[in-house]
Amino acid sequence: MLNIKKTLENLEFINISTYEFTIFEWKPSRSYKSYILDLNICKQNPMSDIFFHMNKGNLKIVHIRKGNLIYSAGSNIEMQFQLLEAIIEQVSIEFNKKYAVDYILSYENFSPGIFNKFEVEIENMLSNFEGMDLIKVINIPCMVCNVLKPLIVKKSFIKNAGSYPVPIVYTHDGHAILCFIDKNFDVRGVELVHITG
Ligand SMILES: [Zn+2]
Repeated sequence: MLNIKKTLENLEFINISTYEFTIFEWKPSRSYKSYILDLNICKQNPMSDIFFHMNKGNLKIVHIRKGNLIYSAGSNIEMQFQLLEAIIEQVSIEFNKKYAVDYILSYENFSPGIFNKFEVEIENMLSNFEGMDLIKVINIPCMVCNVLKPLIVKKSFIKNAGSYPVPIVYTHDGHAILCFIDKNFDVRGVELVHITG
């Protein structure tokens, strides 16, 4: 069984930026690293409301642009992209619940320090993550590994799907399988697929 709490320890940062600068950043207390350069790459992407995945060295980064803000989260390679997506999806909801962001940003001389206290929401979210019921762990029989592999999917991804079963590519250990998930989160089929890019 996949231990989500343990998996979340692989998180390296959560960042909220405007096009110009970071307005909020969370890092685990042990971390002194800077991810500014990695995040500048995220900013080059103009598409809104689409999750982008990036592998960079030992980092996995997910980012999404929503309105005037870019939300991103990074982890080491132990984490699955869907878990990172679920985290920033929730971060964007909580952030906009807590702050009238557009209103605050419209002040010319606002200080980003105004958002520092959002760290409390992040810590709460991470410590109660399993209870928030945002993800589902589905065991996928991989014909290459010959074992059941735990696949993390965002519940919103399955619930908001246009049709079922929903296809999802699960890349791990240098190969990829295409899994079909129905609306009850049951596996309806698994195929080995080739990868390029
Ligand atoms: Zn496999």
